[in-house]
Amino acid sequence: MSEKIEIRGERDMPVNAMSLGLMTWNKTGSWRNLRPVIDYERCTGCMICWKFCPDACINIENERPVIDLDYCKGCGICVEECPKVAISVVKEE
Ligand code: SF4
Ligand code: SF4
Repeated sequence: MSEKIEIRGERDMPVNAMSLGLMTWNKTGSWRNLRPVIDYERCTGCMICWKFCPDACINIENERPVIDLDYCKGCGICVEECPKVAISVVKEE
């Protein structure tokens, strides 16, 4: 019988399966043609973007999300998932 998990907020969610560390040599940021930019005036630090990033390239620094552009592929998932519309994309030059 599995135990019921009470989730009151995103911080209670189980940790995702992420390939941290194993692919650090493979800097995928050069694949990107759109770059996500966080508006810290709008950001509440809910960390939903951190949970959803498929590349695990959003770090938490001083309780704020910081995108590691060495690995961000510019997929835009964080932009879609941010409930505060705090992330937008700009074109890479
Ligand atoms: S999902 Fe949006 S509001 Fe939440 S931490 Fe990320 S950027 Fe900030
Ligand atoms: S654009 Fe994609 S890869 Fe880059 S931080 Fe957002 S979710 Fe992660």
